[in-house]
Amino acid sequence: MSQQGYVAAPPYSQSQPGIGGFSAGFGSPNSSLHYGHYGDSNSSCSAPQPGVSKSTVPFGSSAPVGPPPPGTHQFSQTNFQNGPSTPGQQPHRFQGPPPPSNTGPSYPSYSHQSQPAYPNTASASSTTQLATQLNSMQINSYGPGTTPSSRVSSGHPAPFQGPQLPPPTQQQIALPPGSQVPPPANNVNGLCAQSSLPPMARQDGIPGPVPPNPNLQQLSGQPPGPGYHPQQANYGPQMAGSQLSYPGAFPGGPAQLVGPQQKKLDPDSIPSPIQVIENDKASKGGQIYATNMRGQVPPLVTTDCVIQDQGHASPRYIRCTTYCFPSSSDMAKQARIPLAAVIQPFAVVPPNETPLYVVNHGETGPIRCNRCKAYMCPFMQFIEGGRRYQCGFCNCINDVPPFFFQHLDHIGRRVDHYERPELSLGSYEYLATLDYCRNNKPPKPPAYIFMIDVSYRNINSGLVKLICDELKTLLDKLPREEQEESSAIRVGFVTYNKVLHFFNVKSSLAQPQMMVVSDVGEVFVPLLDGFLVNFQESRSVVINLLDQIPEMFADTNESETIFAPVIQAGMEALKAAECAGKLFIFHSSLPTAEAPGKLRNRDDKKLLNTDKEKVFSTLTRDCVANGCCVNLFLFPNQYVDVASMGLVTMYTGGTLYKYNNFQLDADSPQFLTDLRKDVGKKTGFDAIMRVRTSTGFRATDFFGAIYMNNTTDVEMAAVDCDKAVTVEFKHDDKLNEDSGALIQCAVLYTSISGQRRLRIHNIGLNCSSQLADVYKTCETDALINFFAKSAFKAILSQPLKTVREILVTQTAHMLACYRKNCAGPSAVSQLILPDAMKVLPVYMNCLLKSCVLVGRPEIPTDERAYHRQLVLSMGVADTQLFFYPQLLPLHSLDLKSDTVPAAVRCSEERLSDGGVFLLANGLSMFLWLGVSAPPELIQGLFNVPSFAHISTEATSLPDLDNPFSKKLKSILQHIQSQKPYTMKLMIVKQREQPEMLFRQFLVEDKSIYGGASYVDFLCCVHKEICQLLS
Ligand SMILES: [Zn+2]
Repeated sequence: MSQQGYVAAPPYSQSQPGIGGFSAGFGSPNSSLHYGHYGDSNSSCSAPQPGVSKSTVPFGSSAPVGPPPPGTHQFSQTNFQNGPSTPGQQPHRFQGPPPPSNTGPSYPSYSHQSQPAYPNTASASSTTQLATQLNSMQINSYGPGTTPSSRVSSGHPAPFQGPQLPPPTQQQIALPPGSQVPPPANNVNGLCAQSSLPPMARQDGIPGPVPPNPNLQQLSGQPPGPGYHPQQANYGPQMAGSQLSYPGAFPGGPAQLVGPQQKKLDPDSIPSPIQVIENDKASKGGQIYATNMRGQVPPLVTTDCVIQDQGHASPRYIRCTTYCFPSSSDMAKQARIPLAAVIQPFAVVPPNETPLYVVNHGETGPIRCNRCKAYMCPFMQFIEGGRRYQCGFCNCINDVPPFFFQHLDHIGRRVDHYERPELSLGSYEYLATLDYCRNNKPPKPPAYIFMIDVSYRNINSGLVKLICDELKTLLDKLPREEQEESSAIRVGFVTYNKVLHFFNVKSSLAQPQMMVVSDVGEVFVPLLDGFLVNFQESRSVVINLLDQIPEMFADTNESETIFAPVIQAGMEALKAAECAGKLFIFHSSLPTAEAPGKLRNRDDKKLLNTDKEKVFSTLTRDCVANGCCVNLFLFPNQYVDVASMGLVTMYTGGTLYKYNNFQLDADSPQFLTDLRKDVGKKTGFDAIMRVRTSTGFRATDFFGAIYMNNTTDVEMAAVDCDKAVTVEFKHDDKLNEDSGALIQCAVLYTSISGQRRLRIHNIGLNCSSQLADVYKTCETDALINFFAKSAFKAILSQPLKTVREILVTQTAHMLACYRKNCAGPSAVSQLILPDAMKVLPVYMNCLLKSCVLVGRPEIPTDERAYHRQLVLSMGVADTQLFFYPQLLPLHSLDLKSDTVPAAVRCSEERLSDGGVFLLANGLSMFLWLGVSAPPELIQGLFNVPSFAHISTEATSLPDLDNPFSKKLKSILQHIQSQKPYTMKLMIVKQREQPEMLFRQFLVEDKSIYGGASYVDFLCCVHKEICQLLS
């Protein structure tokens, strides 16, 4: 199959406007093609014409970000240091083994004779080689005389670094103001957008195979030029991917590039994410955070504290990109700060915080504003002695229903204010009445259907037996309401290869009965009674079945599978039983059997299967309409078209799990933990979410594992505790600074016991006509969540290059606007960042380096599709960790303390031969061992005498009875505890080949796939800012 069909005929764009984002694109609802929406409608962000490359950036007169044509003035004043690095810097580099061969073309090491790369600033050792020719920009500082610390507290221009301010002389270290540092955004991806390509070819691979992009192929086949080196051998003039962007485009020769001798840029002089995290922990960690103030900025996601709902939703449920909205749309356009909320409506609340109260108004149901239908909440103002109330969202005056009447006290507050959650709390639930139920009938408890691929490979690998054995105990742990003894959830079982097998497990049967459905073109459910059962009642029959399944298919030689009919069968079964539910599909291979939704190998580029889109889009719509959520566990050992197979999962609020080259021994723990966690998750079924706002602004775009049939209702067949929907807002009108910007998110859903409920989250933000107020209350982690989701959504409809450019230019624009309007006078060459955004550049660079936004052909298409899908439903904590992994120095463990050691920055600089580090990003986990790691630590963790004896095959650590081992185990458990995906542990030894994989996660360094180092990116952003300011 090909992604061409996917893009050319977006599955939902015509018939389902607005679904999950295929057609809605990025701009206002009407500007369907475009991402980069903060500018004017006539900005240069306008949609590219099909086949026309877009080389300018959305900044009007600013210089193009794209590769400049040879000979432009851009290069004339160059004095880049682009020669070999000074010997003094070399010891920082590790001369490791060559990169694994599967990382693509090999990259010759740097040669002085070669054509120099595009002007560049630093090597992969992101900070050591910054050229001093870049002498006019001062990192950090507001100029002489300013006390950085005072700025921090006032929320004004912040110093870059936290407490570790370098001496003033070092602050003069320069970055290039308006210099020729090429924006990393344009590396190889820039080449994806060529005028000769049809629009679909530029969509770069996510939904399907890498398109036959001649440019990419050409690139991968040609020597990459002198500038690019994998991490181990990166001396010399490389800029991330620069020579890939500009092969041969750089005019002049090395002489032009040789600059003055470099100064070393102190890595501690650029803003450190770790410092920001630690500072927040120090000031707010372990404390009680009460949500009693509108527009209050919560502690960071990385800070542990106890949250007390005092009228606004906990940040566990809602986080915003800024807690003070600009009062006018002009201001918003000026700043280009995305106005968004990341809503995780079912977020897990720790045991020491209060769970949500359920309000029951009996048959009358929830109290709602007559005009805008907002639910009763702390934003309603009671007037006329309590007989009426004014809606905080639309200002409509409503009568208070007689049963709800209460007198007001001397400050105009109802005397029962604190007795009613809906008057005093940010979050609570309502019991819904029949009006809120499908067909006005109370819902039935949801059902879980387990659907197991029993083709040859799964039987042979032992996977089928593993699943069946696990289910025998797992089914006892189905989620239930706190007060109930057993789960109300019913279960059903299906196996399949080219045909489907349904099982009757009615409790009265002695043996389970199998019914085969071989007409997969028109799936029907062969039995109603006895298919979905209560596990406790049918326990013996079900156990019997689970024992039999592996044997039943033991002799199979069927290798072909179906897929879409499996989902269809599960959905039809739920529909027939009139209940919502989840499908748990365990699947291994590309579904090539003749059936609807049949997929093809990526190599068959000509075999466009447009039928596929139709099948999956119809299936998605039907699943959502019937409350059927699809969880997909994939066990591929080759390409399986994740983008297509994961589609229904994505739009039904399901979770996609993927275990490449699954090995029973090594990978079972990871898979089984994921499965147990997923089965036990608190989930809302058959859900519909609506976001209401006060006057002057409204929700315009939604990102997540969601489905949208219209512009306002967010449909989710299910929504679990880990799923977050990111909602973008736009101004309609001027906002009132007195009343603020109020948001109410209401999720109507069916609970695990089959109760129809409404979950309400309210949050109030401030509004201001001062841009400084907006910048002061920004939350970088939420901004990155927004940028990641909006960019990942946009790559389906726009060239990767455009998406990347917009991220860079928008970053620069936000910072330039701050500089222009909020910072004190200073030389243009100074880079000044708002305190709340000082780590935005490093995070933005991490986002740009994610495999989804890097168009390298050697990154498997399935991997990109998988990451894209995962990130689209992530909450703020998960994106934070995903884009900036946690790197813990274990050699400095304090065995006497319960605390986890403070993380260090993700850079090779922070590693040491004598160190042991743990790195985790929520999907992967590495234990990195330095060659001179302390023997006692090695002994303690592995029970072997030395580094050389450590086996890197293991995916877990042995259970040993010593303090090191116990401590590390508890840290691992802690890190894993609140993450949606189980991380498989990989043990990596310094200077061994697998280290390459680990190094990709050192996100402050230049990446093997061409991503810029932090310093390079900061230079690039600063250049853009200077251009904007000039
Ligand atoms: Zn209203």
